[in-house]
Amino acid sequence: MRRGVCFDLDGTLLVPHGDWPGWVSTTATALGVEAEARVRFTSALERATSSDAAVTLESACRDALADCGLREPTALADLAREACLDYGRGVRAHPAAAALLERLATAAAPIAIITNGPVDMQMEALRASGLAPYVRATIVSGARDVAVRNPHPRVFWRAVTALRARPEDVLMVGDDLEADVRGAHRFGLATCWIAGDRVDRPSDVPVGTTVVSDLADAAVPVEAFLAG
Ligand SMILES: [Mg+2]
Repeated sequence: MRRGVCFDLDGTLLVPHGDWPGWVSTTATALGVEAEARVRFTSALERATSSDAAVTLESACRDALADCGLREPTALADLAREACLDYGRGVRAHPAAAALLERLATAAAPIAIITNGPVDMQMEALRASGLAPYVRATIVSGARDVAVRNPHPRVFWRAVTALRARPEDVLMVGDDLEADVRGAHRFGLATCWIAGDRVDRPSDVPVGTTVVSDLADAAVPVEAFLAG
């Protein structure tokens, strides 16, 4: 029987981005967005990067500029590429992430990442985190062949297919109760919820879900699942 593990990226394997408002501000400056359009541009960019469709940072910037009635710079592709690299510079892996993934790799347990966002940005975040070498497959909502956000079933179907496993032989680990945990549970995966420090744990956590506070506490249940 082949078993594998899926991990969410943001808030699970990666700690929250160090300076999201600063990154948006730098990106807006690079794109020539004047001060009076900043608030609108920020909302438009957040909407565009959260699109439930194929999206890159370049396409999201184009859509956000159009939303604000602003002209697209001729060097948009280069500026978006630089903004991706700049985003990656603010990415940090969770302190427990590399050791956990390394142990899974040593145990020959294949790993998939499930993450929402522009494909170029999320792939750069994974690369910059240093965790990419442990990962067999990365399912990004903004990729052309995905084009839907987690918790759409297609996301989990692609992940288990990449791991060559049955859904029940795969564990999903994530911090988002609806997208990561309920979504994976509906598709038949085993689930581990990283609840953080929230004390109001909802009563409708799917049956069988392991609840931990932090990724560091997920190592034991993950290894128990793989051994089971
Ligand atoms: Mg998350």
